[in-house]
Amino acid sequence: MKQPAGSRWLYCRGYVQFFSALLANSYFLSQLKGFCYPVLNCWACPAANFACPIGALQYATIAARRGLGVASLAAVLPLYVLGTLVLFSALFGRMMCGWLCPFGWLQDLLGRLRRKKHKTPRWTGYTRYAVLVGLVFVVPYYTGSPWFTKLCPQGALQGGIFQPLLYPELRAGIHGMWYLKQGILLATLVAMILIRRPFCGIVCPLGAIFSLFNRHSAWQIRYDADRCTNCMWCVANCPAAIDPRKEANGHSCISCLECQKCPYETIHSEPSWRRQPCSEHPGKAMGDVSPTIE
Ligand code: SF4
Ligand code: SF4
Ligand code: SF4
Repeated sequence: MKQPAGSRWLYCRGYVQFFSALLANSYFLSQLKGFCYPVLNCWACPAANFACPIGALQYATIAARRGLGVASLAAVLPLYVLGTLVLFSALFGRMMCGWLCPFGWLQDLLGRLRRKKHKTPRWTGYTRYAVLVGLVFVVPYYTGSPWFTKLCPQGALQGGIFQPLLYPELRAGIHGMWYLKQGILLATLVAMILIRRPFCGIVCPLGAIFSLFNRHSAWQIRYDADRCTNCMWCVANCPAAIDPRKEANGHSCISCLECQKCPYETIHSEPSWRRQPCSEHPGKAMGDVSPTIE
């Protein structure tokens, strides 16, 4: 089989993920917790620099229930958080998942331990939307409690472990909910070894928000069916366990651009407005993505 190709910058994804995790958790900018970084990164972690968008949305939902008033910051916060998420995802689709999110990076790293690649049923790609509506909005609104945060394995890893480690006085407060959350974390870590990006594909409400914009974002992946030899290299190497020939830019695609390393240079990405006409097929754009089957 031919070797993977593609531009050099495609091979820097691991470094970008590392520096993004450092930026999100280096503590030296902790006064920036009023700002959202568009990734899943627990803001209860002592080292976290920015607010978690999902945490912020939940607390705004709870504040709305308590009726703090339109002028209060909490009432304005959802617009600011949603605006940030919409702006980033309209520009870059799910590239925050593929290139910036520390929890996505952890899944990529643990996935390297995997020998056999398991796939989840297609319908599991839709459970994230139920988590978003149910655990981020509906349940917090009616219970007044941030239920996604209470169960989030990312929070269990960062806030749940590092807080009691650094502040011994907090250990007395460890109770059943803490153990439940750590159990969810353990199950998630095991799943990360067995399945490609399980948390992103099945659970993450932030990924669900980004997914809504992926197909119409300003940065788009193109697939040129005429050059494809169906060697299946891209299918075997897609971190999201989808078929890039049919599902790139779809709601499960994390826009990591790994498929752009196609040995036959069949896949590339570019701004959505740049569609070069194909010389061999009049009326067709070069590198058009084939219809998605999602
Ligand atoms: S879907 Fe995955 S990569 Fe994207 S924000 Fe959620 S945890 Fe991070
Ligand atoms: S796009 Fe076609 S040629 Fe390229 S890696 Fe995928 S199957 Fe192989
Ligand atoms: S289809 Fe391509 S860009 Fe999308 S997740 Fe798979 S490898 Fe990454």
